[in-house]
Amino acid sequence: MQKDIGRLYICATPIGNLEDITLRVLRILDEVELIAAEDTRRTRKLLNHYEIHKPLISYHEHNEISRTLELIDKLKSGVDIALVSDAGTPGISDPGQEIIRQAIEAEIPVIPIPGPTAVVAALTAAGFPTDAFAFWGFGPRNRRRKRLFIKDISKWPHTAVLYEAPHRLLDTLQVIYDIMPKRPLAVCRELTKIHEEIIRGLPGEIIDHFTADAPRGECVLVLAPFTPGLSSTEQDIAQQKLTPSALSEAVLELMGQGVDKRTAIKQVAEALGISRRTVYQAAIDIPATGHKEP
Ligand code: SAM
Repeated sequence: MQKDIGRLYICATPIGNLEDITLRVLRILDEVELIAAEDTRRTRKLLNHYEIHKPLISYHEHNEISRTLELIDKLKSGVDIALVSDAGTPGISDPGQEIIRQAIEAEIPVIPIPGPTAVVAALTAAGFPTDAFAFWGFGPRNRRRKRLFIKDISKWPHTAVLYEAPHRLLDTLQVIYDIMPKRPLAVCRELTKIHEEIIRGLPGEIIDHFTADAPRGECVLVLAPFTPGLSSTEQDIAQQKLTPSALSEAVLELMGQGVDKRTAIKQVAEALGISRRTVYQAAIDIPATGHKEP
Protein backbone atom coordinates (compact mmCIF):
# COMPACT_ATOMS: atom_id res chain seq x y z
CA MET A 1 0.00 0.00 0.00
CA GLN A 2 1.40 3.41 -0.99
CA LYS A 3 1.72 5.79 1.97
CA ASP A 4 0.88 9.49 1.72
CA ILE A 5 4.45 10.57 2.30
CA GLY A 6 7.74 8.70 2.56
CA ARG A 7 10.41 8.90 5.26
CA LEU A 8 14.07 9.75 4.90
CA TYR A 9 16.30 7.55 7.09
CA ILE A 10 19.86 8.75 7.75
CA CYS A 11 21.76 5.48 8.14
CA ALA A 12 25.24 5.26 9.65
CA THR A 13 27.43 2.50 8.19
CA PRO A 14 30.83 1.13 9.27
CA ILE A 15 34.02 3.25 9.13
CA GLY A 16 36.07 0.11 8.58
CA ASN A 17 34.98 -2.95 10.48
CA LEU A 18 31.87 -4.40 8.85
CA GLU A 19 30.58 -5.59 12.22
CA ASP A 20 30.02 -1.97 13.25
CA ILE A 21 26.50 -1.69 11.94
CA THR A 22 23.39 -1.59 14.05
CA LEU A 23 20.56 -4.07 13.84
CA ARG A 24 18.22 -1.16 13.21
CA VAL A 25 20.22 0.09 10.22
CA LEU A 26 20.17 -3.43 8.75
CA ARG A 27 16.42 -3.64 9.27
CA ILE A 28 15.77 -0.22 7.74
CA LEU A 29 18.01 -0.97 4.73
CA ASP A 30 15.99 -4.13 4.23
CA GLU A 31 12.62 -2.36 4.58
CA VAL A 32 12.98 0.82 2.51
CA GLU A 33 12.09 0.92 -1.19
CA LEU A 34 15.28 2.73 -2.22
CA ILE A 35 18.78 3.35 -0.89
CA ALA A 36 20.55 6.58 -1.88
CA ALA A 37 24.29 5.89 -1.66
CA GLU A 38 27.40 8.03 -2.15
CA ASP A 39 29.07 5.19 -4.06
CA THR A 40 26.61 2.51 -5.16
CA ARG A 41 29.35 -0.08 -5.84
CA ARG A 42 30.76 0.31 -2.36
CA THR A 43 27.36 0.15 -0.70
CA ARG A 44 26.44 -2.86 -2.84
CA LYS A 45 29.37 -4.73 -1.25
CA LEU A 46 28.08 -3.87 2.22
CA LEU A 47 24.54 -4.94 1.29
CA ASN A 48 25.78 -8.19 -0.25
CA HIS A 49 27.67 -8.94 2.95
CA TYR A 50 24.34 -8.72 4.81
CA GLU A 51 22.31 -10.32 2.01
CA ILE A 52 20.18 -7.24 1.50
CA HIS A 53 18.89 -6.78 -2.03
CA LYS A 54 17.45 -3.33 -2.64
CA PRO A 55 17.61 -0.83 -5.48
CA LEU A 56 20.41 1.71 -5.13
CA ILE A 57 20.64 5.22 -6.55
CA SER A 58 23.76 7.41 -6.48
CA TYR A 59 23.81 10.52 -4.32
CA HIS A 60 27.19 12.24 -4.20
CA GLU A 61 28.72 15.72 -4.11
CA HIS A 62 28.57 16.08 -7.91
CA ASN A 63 24.86 15.29 -8.32
CA GLU A 64 23.64 16.35 -4.86
CA ILE A 65 21.50 19.23 -6.15
CA SER A 66 19.81 17.50 -9.09
CA ARG A 67 19.44 14.16 -7.33
CA THR A 68 17.91 15.85 -4.29
CA LEU A 69 15.01 17.17 -6.42
CA GLU A 70 14.38 13.69 -7.78
CA LEU A 71 14.55 12.03 -4.36
CA ILE A 72 12.33 14.64 -2.71
CA ASP A 73 9.68 13.91 -5.40
CA LYS A 74 9.89 10.21 -4.61
CA LEU A 75 9.61 10.88 -0.87
CA LYS A 76 6.58 13.09 -1.50
CA SER A 77 4.97 10.26 -3.46
CA GLY A 78 5.31 7.90 -0.50
CA VAL A 79 8.66 6.14 -1.13
CA ASP A 80 10.81 5.46 1.96
CA ILE A 81 14.48 6.20 1.30
CA ALA A 82 17.60 5.27 3.29
CA LEU A 83 20.54 7.64 2.86
CA VAL A 84 24.02 6.16 3.31
CA SER A 85 27.51 7.50 2.65
CA ASP A 86 30.73 5.62 1.91
CA ALA A 87 31.53 5.34 5.59
CA GLY A 88 30.18 6.56 8.89
CA THR A 89 27.31 9.00 9.21
CA PRO A 90 25.91 10.78 6.13
CA GLY A 91 26.22 14.56 6.36
CA ILE A 92 29.36 14.39 8.52
CA SER A 93 31.99 15.59 6.01
CA ASP A 94 29.93 13.61 3.50
CA PRO A 95 26.95 14.38 1.26
CA GLY A 96 23.55 14.50 2.93
CA GLN A 97 22.96 18.04 4.11
CA GLU A 98 21.07 19.14 1.00
CA ILE A 99 18.49 16.35 0.93
CA ILE A 100 18.05 16.57 4.71
CA ARG A 101 17.48 20.33 4.50
CA GLN A 102 14.98 20.03 1.66
CA ALA A 103 13.17 17.11 3.31
CA ILE A 104 12.68 19.21 6.44
CA GLU A 105 11.39 22.08 4.30
CA ALA A 106 8.93 19.74 2.59
CA GLU A 107 7.80 18.39 5.99
CA ILE A 108 9.05 14.90 5.16
CA PRO A 109 9.97 12.93 8.30
CA VAL A 110 13.76 12.75 8.71
CA ILE A 111 14.77 9.86 10.93
CA PRO A 112 18.37 9.46 12.13
CA ILE A 113 19.57 5.90 12.67
CA PRO A 114 22.78 6.53 14.64
CA GLY A 115 25.95 4.49 14.43
CA PRO A 116 29.62 4.91 13.61
CA THR A 117 31.28 8.21 12.89
CA ALA A 118 35.04 8.74 13.00
CA VAL A 119 34.70 12.01 14.95
CA VAL A 120 33.15 10.32 18.00
CA ALA A 121 35.32 7.20 17.82
CA ALA A 122 38.47 9.36 17.79
CA LEU A 123 37.22 11.81 20.42
CA THR A 124 36.42 9.09 22.95
CA ALA A 125 39.68 7.19 22.41
CA ALA A 126 41.93 10.28 22.53
CA GLY A 127 41.38 10.72 26.27
CA PHE A 128 40.88 14.49 26.34
CA PRO A 129 37.79 16.13 27.87
CA THR A 130 34.60 15.06 26.13
CA ASP A 131 32.15 17.23 28.08
CA ALA A 132 32.50 19.87 25.35
CA PHE A 133 34.25 19.51 22.03
CA ALA A 134 34.33 21.16 18.62
CA PHE A 135 34.35 19.30 15.32
CA TRP A 136 36.22 21.23 12.62
CA GLY A 137 35.88 18.78 9.74
CA PHE A 138 38.57 19.09 7.05
CA GLY A 139 40.73 22.23 7.23
CA PRO A 140 41.79 24.30 4.20
CA ARG A 141 44.55 22.92 1.97
CA ASN A 142 46.15 26.28 1.26
CA ARG A 143 49.06 26.81 3.72
CA ARG A 144 48.21 30.41 4.61
CA ARG A 145 44.53 29.64 5.21
CA LYS A 146 45.48 26.50 7.10
CA ARG A 147 47.63 28.58 9.48
CA LEU A 148 44.69 30.91 10.19
CA PHE A 149 42.43 27.91 10.70
CA ILE A 150 44.80 26.24 13.18
CA LYS A 151 45.37 29.57 14.95
CA ASP A 152 41.63 29.88 15.40
CA ILE A 153 41.39 26.34 16.81
CA SER A 154 44.31 26.99 19.18
CA LYS A 155 42.26 29.55 21.13
CA TRP A 156 39.15 27.44 21.70
CA PRO A 157 38.64 26.09 25.22
CA HIS A 158 37.30 22.76 23.95
CA THR A 159 38.79 19.56 22.68
CA ALA A 160 39.10 19.93 18.89
CA VAL A 161 38.56 17.16 16.35
CA LEU A 162 39.78 17.50 12.74
CA TYR A 163 39.69 15.22 9.74
CA GLU A 164 42.81 15.05 7.59
CA ALA A 165 44.03 13.17 4.53
CA PRO A 166 47.15 11.06 5.21
CA HIS A 167 49.26 12.86 2.58
CA ARG A 168 48.53 16.22 4.26
CA LEU A 169 48.91 15.03 7.85
CA LEU A 170 52.60 15.92 8.31
CA ASP A 171 52.10 19.40 6.88
CA THR A 172 49.14 20.02 9.22
CA LEU A 173 51.12 18.67 12.20
CA GLN A 174 53.93 21.06 11.31
CA VAL A 175 51.51 24.02 11.38
CA ILE A 176 50.17 22.80 14.74
CA TYR A 177 53.75 22.51 16.03
CA ASP A 178 54.54 26.08 14.89
CA ILE A 179 51.46 27.52 16.61
CA MET A 180 51.09 25.36 19.74
CA PRO A 181 54.17 23.15 20.25
CA LYS A 182 53.11 22.13 23.76
CA ARG A 183 49.52 21.15 22.97
CA PRO A 184 48.92 17.42 23.59
CA LEU A 185 47.17 15.70 20.73
CA ALA A 186 46.21 12.32 19.39
CA VAL A 187 46.25 11.01 15.84
CA CYS A 188 43.73 8.21 15.40
CA ARG A 189 44.49 6.23 12.26
CA GLU A 190 42.56 3.46 10.53
CA LEU A 191 40.01 3.22 13.34
CA THR A 192 38.22 -0.13 13.60
CA LYS A 193 40.52 -1.60 10.91
CA ILE A 194 43.35 -4.15 11.17
CA HIS A 195 46.06 -1.47 11.32
CA GLU A 196 44.26 0.77 13.81
CA GLU A 197 46.74 3.06 15.54
CA ILE A 198 46.29 5.80 18.13
CA ILE A 199 49.36 7.96 18.71
CA ARG A 200 49.24 10.35 21.64
CA GLY A 201 51.85 12.96 22.46
CA LEU A 202 53.10 16.47 21.77
CA PRO A 203 53.19 17.72 18.16
CA GLY A 204 56.99 17.28 17.87
CA GLU A 205 56.78 13.66 19.07
CA ILE A 206 53.99 12.86 16.65
CA ILE A 207 55.87 14.48 13.77
CA ASP A 208 58.90 12.29 14.64
CA HIS A 209 56.69 9.20 14.65
CA PHE A 210 55.17 9.89 11.23
CA THR A 211 58.47 11.05 9.74
CA ALA A 212 59.93 7.65 10.60
CA ASP A 213 56.80 5.80 9.50
CA ALA A 214 54.78 7.66 6.85
CA PRO A 215 51.07 7.92 7.69
CA ARG A 216 48.78 5.70 5.63
CA GLY A 217 45.03 5.30 5.64
CA GLU A 218 42.42 7.58 7.12
CA CYS A 219 43.12 9.71 10.14
CA VAL A 220 41.55 12.02 12.69
CA LEU A 221 43.41 14.59 14.77
CA VAL A 222 42.25 15.34 18.31
CA LEU A 223 43.73 18.31 20.16
CA ALA A 224 43.56 19.01 23.89
CA PRO A 225 41.66 22.19 24.75
CA PHE A 226 43.19 25.59 25.28
CA THR A 227 42.89 26.56 28.95
CA PRO A 228 42.01 30.27 29.11
CA GLY A 229 43.12 32.56 31.86
CA LEU A 230 46.54 31.01 32.40
CA SER A 231 49.90 32.52 31.52
CA SER A 232 51.63 30.82 28.59
CA THR A 233 53.92 28.87 30.95
CA GLU A 234 50.97 27.73 33.07
CA GLN A 235 49.14 26.95 29.86
CA ASP A 236 51.96 24.68 28.74
CA ILE A 237 52.03 22.94 32.10
CA ALA A 238 48.25 22.50 32.24
CA GLN A 239 48.18 21.11 28.71
CA GLN A 240 50.92 18.62 29.47
CA LYS A 241 49.07 17.56 32.59
CA LEU A 242 45.98 16.86 30.53
CA THR A 243 47.45 13.82 28.75
CA PRO A 244 45.76 10.64 30.02
CA SER A 245 49.07 9.14 31.18
CA ALA A 246 49.96 12.29 33.13
CA LEU A 247 46.51 12.33 34.75
CA SER A 248 46.80 8.68 35.72
CA GLU A 249 50.32 9.30 37.15
CA ALA A 250 48.97 12.20 39.21
CA VAL A 251 46.24 9.95 40.65
CA LEU A 252 48.78 7.22 41.43
CA GLU A 253 51.09 9.72 43.10
CA LEU A 254 48.33 10.88 45.46
CA MET A 255 47.34 7.29 46.17
CA GLY A 256 50.98 6.57 47.02
CA GLN A 257 50.59 9.22 49.72
CA GLY A 258 47.68 7.29 51.25
CA VAL A 259 44.78 9.09 49.52
CA ASP A 260 42.01 6.75 48.31
CA LYS A 261 41.39 6.53 44.55
CA ARG A 262 38.08 8.41 44.56
CA THR A 263 39.53 11.35 46.50
CA ALA A 264 42.68 11.36 44.37
CA ILE A 265 40.57 11.66 41.20
CA LYS A 266 38.58 14.50 42.75
CA GLN A 267 41.73 16.37 43.85
CA VAL A 268 43.43 16.06 40.44
CA ALA A 269 40.27 17.23 38.64
CA GLU A 270 39.91 20.22 40.97
CA ALA A 271 43.58 21.15 40.71
CA LEU A 272 43.41 21.22 36.91
CA GLY A 273 39.87 22.59 36.60
CA ILE A 274 38.71 19.64 34.51
CA SER A 275 35.86 17.16 34.95
CA ARG A 276 36.23 14.22 37.35
CA ARG A 277 35.00 12.01 34.56
CA THR A 278 38.06 12.87 32.43
CA VAL A 279 40.42 11.98 35.28
CA TYR A 280 38.38 8.90 36.10
CA GLN A 281 38.67 7.68 32.49
CA ALA A 282 42.43 8.27 32.47
CA ALA A 283 42.78 6.36 35.76
CA ILE A 284 40.39 3.54 34.89
CA ASP A 285 43.14 0.89 34.88
CA ILE A 286 44.34 1.78 38.36
CA PRO A 287 42.87 -0.64 40.90
CA ALA A 288 41.62 0.75 44.20
CA THR A 289 44.87 -0.46 45.85
CA GLY A 290 46.91 1.90 43.70
CA HIS A 291 49.09 -0.72 41.97
CA LYS A 292 48.68 -0.83 38.22
CA GLU A 293 48.17 -4.26 36.66
CA PRO A 294 51.35 -5.43 34.86
N1 SAM B 1 31.01 10.42 7.24
C1 SAM B 1 32.26 10.02 7.84
C2 SAM B 1 32.09 9.95 9.36
O1 SAM B 1 30.96 9.91 9.83
O2 SAM B 1 33.12 9.91 10.05
C3 SAM B 1 33.40 10.92 7.42
C4 SAM B 1 33.67 10.90 5.94
S1 SAM B 1 35.00 11.92 5.45
C5 SAM B 1 34.83 11.94 3.72
C6 SAM B 1 36.38 10.86 5.59
C7 SAM B 1 37.31 11.25 6.74
O3 SAM B 1 36.80 10.72 7.96
C8 SAM B 1 38.71 10.67 6.61
O4 SAM B 1 39.55 11.48 5.82
C9 SAM B 1 39.16 10.62 8.04
O5 SAM B 1 39.59 11.90 8.48
C10 SAM B 1 37.85 10.26 8.77
N2 SAM B 1 37.72 8.80 8.86
C11 SAM B 1 36.80 8.02 8.27
N3 SAM B 1 36.97 6.73 8.60
C12 SAM B 1 38.05 6.68 9.41
C13 SAM B 1 38.75 5.63 10.09
N4 SAM B 1 38.38 4.37 9.97
N5 SAM B 1 39.81 5.96 10.86
C14 SAM B 1 40.20 7.24 10.98
N6 SAM B 1 39.59 8.26 10.36
C15 SAM B 1 38.53 7.99 9.59
